[in-house]
Amino acid sequence: MRMLPEDLHPPVWVLRMGHRPERDKRVTTHVALLSRAFGARGIDIDRRDEKLEGGIRSVVERFGGDFTVRSGVNPRKAIKGFDGKIVHLTMYGEPLKWRIDEIRENERILVVVGAEKVPGWVYKEADYNISITQQPHSEVSSLGVFLHHLYDGKEDELSFPGAKEVILPEGSGKRVIQISSPPLKNLEKRRGWLPTMDEALRILVDLGVPPQVIRHTIAVHDFAREICDRCESSEINCDLLLMGALLHDVGRAKTHGIEHGIKGAELLKKIGVDERLQRIAERHLGAGIKKEEAKRLGLPPQDYIPESIEEKLVAHLDNMIDDFRRVPLSHFVNRMEKIGLIDVGERALKLQEELERRLKVKFDDFL
Ligand code: SAM
Repeated sequence: MRMLPEDLHPPVWVLRMGHRPERDKRVTTHVALLSRAFGARGIDIDRRDEKLEGGIRSVVERFGGDFTVRSGVNPRKAIKGFDGKIVHLTMYGEPLKWRIDEIRENERILVVVGAEKVPGWVYKEADYNISITQQPHSEVSSLGVFLHHLYDGKEDELSFPGAKEVILPEGSGKRVIQISSPPLKNLEKRRGWLPTMDEALRILVDLGVPPQVIRHTIAVHDFAREICDRCESSEINCDLLLMGALLHDVGRAKTHGIEHGIKGAELLKKIGVDERLQRIAERHLGAGIKKEEAKRLGLPPQDYIPESIEEKLVAHLDNMIDDFRRVPLSHFVNRMEKIGLIDVGERALKLQEELERRLKVKFDDFL
């Protein structure tokens, strides 16, 4: 499910106290980066440090979101003037478990972390003095544990619109996609437009499609490109096919349920992209869903059977990609059999036969 830091409740801002620009640059930077990554809305730092501010802003510029940073903020004014509750993290406080449920009930939270010694008045002004164990460690670890618990571990589901760099999860090596298109809200959208690859990636990222799903859709896209390159048929509109492959799972920004095809089509309609892309998303599940099955599955009762060659290809290539790896269609068929959907597997096999006949290719040659 798509989630922005703004969707997390209660919203958190962080106040970093005792920052010494000459000594704490690295730790304060880490406090700020951790705050952003774990869903806080912004950070205030007590001592002026323009270099540090600039460093954080450039991370926000690269990796997206609206995280704010200010330095040279008077901590007394920040704490006394805050319209919400103050949570001070300190080894001398009460264990987080005692208070976390109560803290979650609040409307807005300012979390205070120190550098060395935090002055006594902060303990008095704080609504909660909270410890993460009674052992000394660090403002970075205590803030990480606090935000992780406050938001029930949702940090991994956060999306950061406008990101120019998006990291895709990999077991080994690094995989980063670069996007130069402006944020989706500023993107110039023509009526019925067919996005470029860069724009399609922008759509995926800004709608909040999880990175592992983006990795999957890139795998379907790459497969489609190979088919286009090797296929003699002029039947295929390759630009449409490639964008359809990239955008077919856009509905997974909202749900991973069977309705993600319909949700994807709705999202694409809202953005105003070419209707043919909407239909690719809507009809890509299995080898399509018949009206009767749709009724049983609780979907709006209509046929979701792929019709155009691009719709058929995206559905089929999707069936041949498990996560991001190409597999023979038999994997999909066996999986369907195991859950009692023999007819779904049979329909997928028929679709493969039809496509191989029409396009004069053998899909297993691409494994
Ligand atoms: N040890 C002192 C304390 O916790 O008040 C201060 C020094 S510590 C190097 C810097 C900051 O790390 C503290 O101001 C506090 O925010 C955080 N911190 C360190 N240990 C903590 C703990 N066990 N629980 C909560 N916060 C802690």
